Amino acid sequence: MKIQMLVLANSKKSGGRCLAGIRTDTLEWVRPVALSDHNEMPTDSCFNSFTGKPIRPLDLVELDISEAMPLKYQRENWLSNPASIKFLTKVSVEKAFPKLETKIDNEPWFLRDSSTKIDPAVYRKYKTNAPSLALIEVASAELLTNQRKSRRIHFRHGSTNWDLPFTDDYYQGADGKLERSLLCLSIGEEWQSSYGTSDQKWHYKLVAGLISLPPIEVTPLNTSVADSLLAICERLFQFTPYISEERNQFGRFATGGWFYQGIATLKCEFCGNSGLMVFRKHFRKYAREMHYWGIVCEACRVGSDSKIFTKKFVRQLDESLETIQPVKSCCHECISNIKNF
Ligand SMILES: [Zn+2]
Ligand SMILES: [Zn+2]
Repeated sequence: MKIQMLVLANSKKSGGRCLAGIRTDTLEWVRPVALSDHNEMPTDSCFNSFTGKPIRPLDLVELDISEAMPLKYQRENWLSNPASIKFLTKVSVEKAFPKLETKIDNEPWFLRDSSTKIDPAVYRKYKTNAPSLALIEVASAELLTNQRKSRRIHFRHGSTNWDLPFTDDYYQGADGKLERSLLCLSIGEEWQSSYGTSDQKWHYKLVAGLISLPPIEVTPLNTSVADSLLAICERLFQFTPYISEERNQFGRFATGGWFYQGIATLKCEFCGNSGLMVFRKHFRKYAREMHYWGIVCEACRVGSDSKIFTKKFVRQLDESLETIQPVKSCCHECISNIKNF
């Protein structure tokens, strides 16, 4: 079967390459494997035949896969014909992101503990069908080369600081700090560290691919804007909300583009009174239309973004407002988008 795959990793492994990506038709993870000692793909099959250079993350390739060959620790493996791999095109991060965003897993099971390796017994003991590939977004990271000349990547995820092997040896960037990035994580085969003394083998957690993302746009501070959250609140309710400087909230609420959506009868995080006035502002992140939150308590007059609330609370707030006044029916930008469609 011929498929197209958006490559997210082309990293080194014993005897060849570990190629992994997402099928463009089903958005499922695929790790094409060959019938070889370590299921590795031959190195020479992972080249772009036009440029003679290695296939890179965000390259779209076509390849033949014949059957699923799941291993307990790598369930995404598919038997494939290495000679069939064909480079099609390079996809820009802006174009790829909306699809990739749906694959971002903010809590992959193998990052739940802080160990950098997995005991193979875990797989023998349990009938596991856990994924061995994951895509995460990090606000920053750092690449470095350790004393053993191995490339490592440091990043923070949840409350853990990770230090994992970075196995994309074709990555051109120098060691140092990285801004917002997508990391393609993979679980390696059983492997015995040559530095240890015991013959215990482990599955190591690896970062097999790295994609730099453009920074999230920060709107400039301009307090005189008539449709800032502050100005609208003043106009409609005759008071200026108290806003913390944290996360540039004040700056964001002082810029234009806000509109009032409605009032929800949910309890205020600060004073416990019910009555939260909700302001929204349209923005576009890559190809997705979204709306910032500005939540102002009627009673204590504290205003904030949605970050201080739990996801569950924001969902409740969203649901309750959508029944009163759907955001798309009061957002000028959404309305004009529909007209221009
Ligand atoms: Zn309050
Ligand atoms: Zn909108």
